[in-house]
Amino acid sequence: MGYNKSEEYDEQTTTGLINSYKNALSLLGEDPEREGLIKTPERLAKAMQFLTQGYQMDAKAILDSAKFHEDVSEMIVVKDIELYSMCEHHMLPFYGKAHVAYIPNGYITGLSKIARVVDVYARRLQVQERLTTEILNAIKDSLQPLGVAVVIEASHLCMMMRGVQKQNSVTTTSAFFGEFQKHETRSEFMKLISAQLH
Ligand SMILES: [Zn+2]
Repeated sequence: MGYNKSEEYDEQTTTGLINSYKNALSLLGEDPEREGLIKTPERLAKAMQFLTQGYQMDAKAILDSAKFHEDVSEMIVVKDIELYSMCEHHMLPFYGKAHVAYIPNGYITGLSKIARVVDVYARRLQVQERLTTEILNAIKDSLQPLGVAVVIEASHLCMMMRGVQKQNSVTTTSAFFGEFQKHETRSEFMKLISAQLH
């Protein structure tokens, strides 16, 4: 048997959203009953539940599930983590990359868990600044490391498609804790995430 990816949606939530989106389509001047749109409210209802599934997830539990004692005190860097989120002001996507580092203090976690923590907070309605500090705090609380650093570079469709229409602007946010507040440690991290390995 091949890989079977199943998705579950709450029926009551889905039905409520379908009705709301049908109404929204009418208000926007569309006919929600025309062929091309007939299944759109249902698809959108499911897509939005998928894109906000982070509310149901617990970042600390994910990190704790793969937490191991290990005597390393070198900086651990996970860079170029793909990130897709939605701004809470317009509910339009913003997307880019997250770079995360921490310096263990007796405990490490699985590298894939760091990427999952990014998703836990990205799959909610967000502002990039809060997303950055929430990722930092989750790692800080679970691993109690000597330092944590998070840098996010993202493009916001609400800026690109409407308003100022700055098509190529990238917003960078960062948060640093502990050792990363020292200039030397922080610049080593910044050097590592901007280096291209060829
Ligand atoms: Zn926005």
